[in-house]
This record gives sequence, structure tokens and C-alpha cells, in this order.
Amino acid sequence: MNFIFVGPPGAGKGTIAARVAQELSVPHISTGEIFRENIRGRTELGVKIKELLDRGELVPDHLTIELVKERLTHPDVQSGWILDGFPRTRAQAEALDEFVHIDLIFHLEVDDETVVGRLGGRRVHPASGRTYHVVHNPPKQEGIDDVSGEPLVKRDDDERDAIKHRLEVYRQQTAPVVEYYAAKDRLTQVDASRQMETVLAEVLDLIATRK
Ligand code: AMP
Repeated sequence: MNFIFVGPPGAGKGTIAARVAQELSVPHISTGEIFRENIRGRTELGVKIKELLDRGELVPDHLTIELVKERLTHPDVQSGWILDGFPRTRAQAEALDEFVHIDLIFHLEVDDETVVGRLGGRRVHPASGRTYHVVHNPPKQEGIDDVSGEPLVKRDDDERDAIKHRLEVYRQQTAPVVEYYAAKDRLTQVDASRQMETVLAEVLDLIATRK
């Protein structure tokens, strides 16, 4: 089965998508994570897009759509996939509809205040993409990844001004994606302001009912 998660930054898309992917043994494809890997590896793409990511701007559609199209040709997607952070524009949503079938589209809804609190306290382990929160989900040792023992960092786009900007970008460019799917009655609404474990349980239930 194929699933996508849409919702503002900080809705928990990454966390929920990673956990669901693990439960179902399907790949979790996060466009943001693929972009950050390219930036870390200083690839041609990474050099081109670094500033955009730091500012919280979107990567141009043609680059993003090609990247996802290519990723969905890999052999590991045969029994299903989860897309996280794509589509983020109406053009991406339309392109996706042209080349794949989507079983469930989860709309993770959350208010701005919760977003700012979640992202401002988020810390990440860059190599694995594992995330923590200084209050809600702290690592065993402050500033250190539980699994590798390596330092955690704050993403540049989790600084206050970038968070505000990402919320504006979401309203202008990604809200139309929600409207696009809503108009076709394709959205599964989930209240994502609750504890992550509660949200995760509901998402897994909805998937089980659908199967
Ligand atoms: P995320 O990890 O999903 O929060 O994404 C981090 C950043 O990667 C975003 O702020 C954008 O700069 C970029 N990005 C991720 N997914 C997309 C997308 N579908 N379209 C354009 N830019 C994206």
C-alpha cells in the first residue's frame, strides 16, 4: 500500500511516517531527508539547494518531482512506500497522480503555536535522521544520540525566523495541496496536536481498517 502524509512543518510527518514504515516494512521516503543527505555529501544538487533549505524555501518543482519519480523506480518500493514531505505544491500533487496510485492521504492537522514549540525544541542526529525534543522526547543524555553516541544538532531551518517563514510558505504553497485532495474527498484527517504515540496508534488503526 502507498501512503502520503501532508501537514505543516512540525505536524509530526517525519516521526509518524518513519514509525509506520517500520511497522509495515516499507521504505520511508522523505524528500527533506534526501535533500539534506545531498547537502551533507556536497553533491551538485546539494550545493544548489543548500541556501533554499536554510531559509525554509521550497526546492523548485522540476527538481523535486524528478527526484521522487526516480526514487519510486527503486526495487524496494514494490510492496509499498510512504512519502513524507511530498507533495508540497499543487504541481507536485498533480504530477504524483500521473505516475502512481495513492491508497491513503493523511492530513496531519496542528495549530501554529504547537508547531513553533515542537520545532524550536527539536534536535536531530544528522546521519540517521533520528529526532528528539528537548522537553517531550529528550535523549538519555542531553545533546547525544541514544543509538550512536554522536552529538545532536538543531536544524538551521528550526531557528525561530525560519520556522515562521516555513509556516508562511506552507500556507501559500502547500495549503493548495490540501485543498486539491479535499476537493476530491481523498483526505483522511488526523488531529496531530495530540501525543505522537496517540497519533501513531490512530494512523495504524486507519491503515488496518483499510487493508
Ligand atoms: P522537511 O524535512 O520535510 O521539513 O523538508 C525540509 C526542507 O526541504 C523544506 O523546507 C524544503 O526546503 C525542502 N523540501 C522538502 N520536501 C520538499 C518538496 N516536496 N518540495 C520542495 N521542497 C521540499
